[in-house]
Amino acid sequence: MTDPLSHLDSCIAEVWEFLERIGHETTDSPGITRAAWSRNDEIAADGVRIFARRHGLQVLNDAFGNIQLLLPGVDPATPCVTTGSHLDSVPHGGNYDGLAGIAAGLAVLAAANADPASRTKPFRVVAMRGEESPWFGTAYLGSRLLLGLSTLDEIGDLVRSDSGQSLRHHIWQLGYPRTVEAVAPLLNSDLVTSFLELHIEQGPLLEADGIPVGIATAVRGNVRFPDARCIGAYGHSAALPRRFRRDAVLAVAELALGLDGFWKDRIARGDEDFVFTVGKFSTDAVLHAMTKVAGEVKFSLNIGAAAKTSLDEARALLFDLIKGIGKDRGVTFELGREVGTPPTPMDGQLIALIEDAARPLGIATCRMPTVGHDAAMFARAGIPCAVLLIRNANGSHNSEEALDRRDFAAGVHVLARAMHRLPQPTGSR
Ligand SMILES: [Zn+2]
Repeated sequence: MTDPLSHLDSCIAEVWEFLERIGHETTDSPGITRAAWSRNDEIAADGVRIFARRHGLQVLNDAFGNIQLLLPGVDPATPCVTTGSHLDSVPHGGNYDGLAGIAAGLAVLAAANADPASRTKPFRVVAMRGEESPWFGTAYLGSRLLLGLSTLDEIGDLVRSDSGQSLRHHIWQLGYPRTVEAVAPLLNSDLVTSFLELHIEQGPLLEADGIPVGIATAVRGNVRFPDARCIGAYGHSAALPRRFRRDAVLAVAELALGLDGFWKDRIARGDEDFVFTVGKFSTDAVLHAMTKVAGEVKFSLNIGAAAKTSLDEARALLFDLIKGIGKDRGVTFELGREVGTPPTPMDGQLIALIEDAARPLGIATCRMPTVGHDAAMFARAGIPCAVLLIRNANGSHNSEEALDRRDFAAGVHVLARAMHRLPQPTGSR
């Protein structure tokens, strides 16, 4: 019996060249830009298709420009272990956020196809569009369409931030749906037995801890107030004694520090899951002055956690704080619309399987929560999911992403072993 992974290293070397080439072709200094459904996005998509065809894989486009790749002997209607990620990037981002996960899948399938005993394995790679939110103001558009969680009727009128054109227009402009080709089926829990996404880590933890592969326990949920306001009263900075002040800046600062205190308590108790950000904080440029007490602050609140109890506790504290601060400081808080998503747990059996796949390779892993990925949409569709996070210096969503080729190779080896170990549906080898 041949080793189904004997060709993996040569395939990893090839996909690494593919990754570097696409990075070069979509350069937008500093970094790279692959706007969702743009010309650069299509350059990456063409690169995926060319690589796959050269390795004898089946290539199917869906009506929205997502790509599905299968081994040559596999019927597209077969339930498959599925991997993959997204083609697009943020503006002036790095080359690896998204594309590394597609390249990893290409390596696993190309290596399987090079081994006669593995050619009918029910494996699928998906290359998806529009995961990043800057382009259409919302994330996961490609995976939502691919999984039937949204329809083009529902989201086709969304407008891309750089072009001012609709999503529907951009899909058609790239020539989708392509009526001369067989169209890939929409995916669901019948066609996807499990979804394993390889993605670079977007924070610094793996680098700091010297661990090459993280395994996500959950995609963090969040509670967000994008357009909150605090209303106090403007006044003379020198003439107004403290007890007469209704200072909106100090009120929001106290609120932020109150939530920061909650965060610090969590960390002191060994809980590293919680995150909290005031990303927007501004006084009114027309009315503010150095010599005035600020009468109004506009701000945002973004609370995240993988544990729903943490989100609930922080939200309750937020409302207690604004009540108390409002009374003490004579200000009013208007939090505005509340948006957010619940945390999405990853599949416990898949997490254990990935750990078991890494151990004999001598590759250290750790469990950690992660941020939003396409995997969250597969989980929403009722599909067991896992995310392998690969150590990456300098974080992501910036031009300094620095994925080490050896860490990428380690991640692909773990992914490949996990995929080959997963139980195969009846009727397949
Ligand atoms: Zn990503």
